[in-house]
Amino acid sequence: MSTAVELLDQGHEVDIYDSKSFVGGKVGSFVDKQGNHIEMGLHVFFGCYNNLFRLMKKVGAEKNLLVKDHTHTFVNKGGDIGELDFRFPIGAPIHGMRAFLTTNQLGTYDKARNAVALALSPVVRALVDPDGAMQNIRDLDNISFSEWFMSKGGTRKSIQRMWDPVAYALGFIDCDNISARCMLTIFSLFATKTEASLLRMLKGSPDVYLSGPIRKYITDRGGRFHLRWGCREVLYDRSADGGVYVTGLAMSKATEKKTVKADAYVAACDVPGIKRLLPQDWRESQFFDNIYKLVGVPVVTVQLRYNGWVTELKDLERSRQLRQASGLDNLLYTPDADFSCFADLALTSPADYYIEGQGSLLQCVLTPGDPYMPLLNDEIIKRVTKQVLVLFPSSQGLEVTWSSVVKIGQSLYREGPGKDPFRPDQKTPIKNFFLAGSYTKQDYIDSMEGATLSGRLASAFICGAGEELVALPNYLLKK
Ligand SMILES: Cc1cc2nc3c(=O)[nH]c(=O)nc-3n(C[C@H](O)[C@H](O)[C@H](O)COP(=O)(O)OP(=O)(O)OC[C@H]3O[C@@H](n4cnc5c(N)ncnc54)[C@H](O)[C@@H]3O)c2cc1C
Repeated sequence: MSTAVELLDQGHEVDIYDSKSFVGGKVGSFVDKQGNHIEMGLHVFFGCYNNLFRLMKKVGAEKNLLVKDHTHTFVNKGGDIGELDFRFPIGAPIHGMRAFLTTNQLGTYDKARNAVALALSPVVRALVDPDGAMQNIRDLDNISFSEWFMSKGGTRKSIQRMWDPVAYALGFIDCDNISARCMLTIFSLFATKTEASLLRMLKGSPDVYLSGPIRKYITDRGGRFHLRWGCREVLYDRSADGGVYVTGLAMSKATEKKTVKADAYVAACDVPGIKRLLPQDWRESQFFDNIYKLVGVPVVTVQLRYNGWVTELKDLERSRQLRQASGLDNLLYTPDADFSCFADLALTSPADYYIEGQGSLLQCVLTPGDPYMPLLNDEIIKRVTKQVLVLFPSSQGLEVTWSSVVKIGQSLYREGPGKDPFRPDQKTPIKNFFLAGSYTKQDYIDSMEGATLSGRLASAFICGAGEELVALPNYLLKK
């Protein structure tokens, strides 16, 4: 959709095909028969999402974000709260240094070692030379965050109590498995931009407050959506000079079939989608073959509706009434449950999730998702409910009144060490075929910002190739 918006603004015609019945992909949501909004996953917006914020402003959705308190909250066993508190009158990097030096999520020794590791990181260079620091960070793609952090004096305890939940939230894998590049990219943004660590969440569901407005912008400008239409095959031809050109896309919707033709084709898929779509012959090219070295990480998202306020730790009476919402209104991390991050959507995104006479709507992201993938939904709900009680003993006695489970077998691409070089550019060796999607090359991690940026880059390449693309059909006809 990011590519479509840019291309429509440049005066092009755009058709979007998606095999799903709703727009937005992993940030999409739909309403079930009982009126519940079912999200593909819990989404938070870092303050450095400049491309996404620009897009939201363009489509009139910039007011749909609610700014949360500038603190990252960890919920430990027994309701013990730890914080990485960025609230300070002086901005970056001072507010970040203070947050790490004063956090109560770590003991004094771990905190000191943490500070040493961060002081020895490229993040310090980022304060004076962000581009140079980014190059140093990219050079650390080959090692895991744990390897890098421990080599700089960081402790295993810091990893377990603070960095693992953060790594799980960012990439759905732990510090032993996530590339140092991925984590340090985020740290350098936090260190250099005061707003970067400030979290925002949507007022309500993505279909109403994010993907909906983008869709409207696109259709208002003549763009067309074709939902439930999946691309089954990329049709292509070779010219006399040996070059490959896409000649059409074979699409299908249930039993219907059609071939779609255009001047330029953009595959804005997820990792499993692009692997299925690319013609096998194209793997002769290193560019396309590299994509097969990327894999997706499984993730399971659970929603639990309660008849009270689960995260209200201080006032038992308030947690038991249903007249007023109460509890922790922010993204929450935890090192003590199988879900690494979660939020009470009835508080954070009340427009669609606060319902009068009902309580918390916890949305929990189970990472690693692998052990939960084969389990039945009832079993998943049982296990998650039990763990919620470990974190919030004060919620003993509250009942789950509704629940849902969404499993994604391959979600984010696995940002393991050494994977970054395999991410493809948006411009491919095939002149009229482009790629977009958060797994393609850009300096953000697999995120909404990364997806938006990749879409802008794809549209820039298409516009840049204008003359060549116009000439292509004639060339193919003459062949
Ligand atoms: C549980 C969860 C939590 C997340 N939390 C955050 C967060 O807090 N902050 C953040 O920034 N990011 C978060 N993300 C990541 C973010 O959702 C993704 O990075 C982003 O949505 C990727 O967008 P995309 O357009 O690249 O891919 P997708 O959203 O996966 O879209 C790809 C689309 O391509 C379609 N498609 C694939 N193949 C075909 C085909 N052959 N024919 C037709 N259509 C096809 C799919 O149906 C899909 O709609 C989260 C992701 C998950 C799963």
